[in-house]
Amino acid sequence: MQILLRRLYNGGFNHLKSTHFLVQRAPRTVIPASSRFCTTDTQENSGQFSVPSNIDRESSSDGPGKPQREAERLTRTAMSAEFVKANEKYVADFGDKGSLPIPPSKKLAIVTCMDARLNLYALLGVKEGEAHIIRNAGGIAKDALRSIIISQRLLGTREIAVIHHTSCGMISFKTPQLRSLIKESDPSNPAVQAVDEIDFLEFSDLDQSVKDDVAWLKVNPLVLPESQITGWVYDVETGTIRQIV
Ligand SMILES: [Zn+2]
Repeated sequence: MQILLRRLYNGGFNHLKSTHFLVQRAPRTVIPASSRFCTTDTQENSGQFSVPSNIDRESSSDGPGKPQREAERLTRTAMSAEFVKANEKYVADFGDKGSLPIPPSKKLAIVTCMDARLNLYALLGVKEGEAHIIRNAGGIAKDALRSIIISQRLLGTREIAVIHHTSCGMISFKTPQLRSLIKESDPSNPAVQAVDEIDFLEFSDLDQSVKDDVAWLKVNPLVLPESQITGWVYDVETGTIRQIV
């Protein structure tokens, strides 16, 4: 199985490798710095949060200074505090979810968009432990293939639901436009040229995009032939879902 996975990883995912390269080498974003809210770049955020004056920077690693220094090392954003606060409430009602098995109990993998308006658990009535939810920009099957293979071959899922949605950002641009935008944001950096290797997989027809993704999965030799595959559109204005395929 390890050999199989290694072969899969080494072929057919060039666009994902390119994405990784771009993230490592290129500027973090083309969004103006003034509108940035959260970033993982520690240097950019240093100084955003003041360090409490009572922290002993020189204390022994065996003493109470260690966790304090660890806290200093972490990037702090406005969201960090919200995460911690919300998580405390979540843990209070965590119940027995810690004993859930890894394989999804409904043997279901959902491929859907990363759009912030989609609450897949709520809109489909799916609970923790029941399904894999594989998300990317647009909910594009091709971009989800790596996860689908792992979901099926290692964790036993046999049904795939592709869910795209109305008002998707993937309808609003073309790959050449986005490539130009990124390259023009940092023209002196040759690493940024790697964006030319990325197909952003946008689409212009919503229903057709679902049909295309389902058809692509059904004939893909890396997807199990016994898979049950359906395609859906979620309406962000009404909350309703509509089966396409
Ligand atoms: Zn979307």
